[in-house]
Amino acid sequence: MICLGIEGTAHTAAVAIVNSNKEILYDNRDMYTKKTGGIIPSEAAQHHKKVFPKLIKEALEKVKKIDFIVYSNAPGLAPCLMEARDAAKNISKKLKVPLIGINHCIAHLSSAHLFTKVENPVYLFTSGANTQIISSEGNRLRIFGETLDVGIGNALDKFGRNIDLGFPAGPVVEQLAKKGKYIELPYLVKGMDVAFSGLVTKTDNLFKKGAKKEDLCFSMQETCFAMLTEVTERALAHCNKNEVVLIGGVAANKRLCKMLEIMCKERNAKFYAVPLKYAGDNATMIAWQGILEYKGKRNRVDINPYERIDEIEINF
Ligand code: ATP
Repeated sequence: MICLGIEGTAHTAAVAIVNSNKEILYDNRDMYTKKTGGIIPSEAAQHHKKVFPKLIKEALEKVKKIDFIVYSNAPGLAPCLMEARDAAKNISKKLKVPLIGINHCIAHLSSAHLFTKVENPVYLFTSGANTQIISSEGNRLRIFGETLDVGIGNALDKFGRNIDLGFPAGPVVEQLAKKGKYIELPYLVKGMDVAFSGLVTKTDNLFKKGAKKEDLCFSMQETCFAMLTEVTERALAHCNKNEVVLIGGVAANKRLCKMLEIMCKERNAKFYAVPLKYAGDNATMIAWQGILEYKGKRNRVDINPYERIDEIEINF
């Protein structure tokens, strides 16, 4: 079975081809970025509209026979989801092969099983829009804790926008943090949930009063990541599990990985992170999830910007 996957839920337009032996036959992506300010959904959608034809053409030059098309139909920014859907519909019509839609966040979780040896973990999902502490029970995912406001990646991006770091700010924050010193910031853990907006406001005020960018980056990272490590540790204890896997774009951050690794070592648990190249949005995870779901004959082609992972049955 050979599947062509299309990703376009937010800033990244991506196309990949994967077969049922877990071989990646093609993987390419093009990300919408900005030197100043944050993501503008209509601009990101225009970006996707422009680059999808080129990416798809290149993919089909590489692999001629495709059995079906899959695209991420949920959740995400509606204008971007629509461009991905239209690109997927066009190519499925042209090749006369079936089209299915899958949930982008479930694909992030599945990618942990595709790229690491993890079996039955607590998933810490840290992307732009999402921050959730998840574990599976039977064929359902259960969210044990999550952000009460913005996702960790979006919080870092908003923080970065306030101190003029451009978009996406996460990688720049990581670099500047290496030269920073600690400033006390609010620590916002509420039960099993976390909140980041207060930190974004507080750091903005401190910046306006003259705090150094490097110190703010260091303190923002230390505070946010300590909050995430605390709730992940509690989820591990509650679920009586001994594996943690970090997924989503913020998994690229070495400091977050280190904190989780130390916590896991202290609990005799194993820590895994999805490889850097596949931590953020990519179409390989979409194509792989397509292969898993195609076998299950599920078919949800319409977009759904707000679908949550605990609404869906899983098969990994
Ligand atoms: P979702 O996948 O939930 O729809 P998304 O598409 O915005 O959200 P991803 O592509 O998984 O998310 O991740 C992008 C986020 O990862 C951005 O917010 C970016 O700033 C952040 N990020 C990328 N690299 C790093 C890093 N090294 N340190 C911290 N954050 C990072």
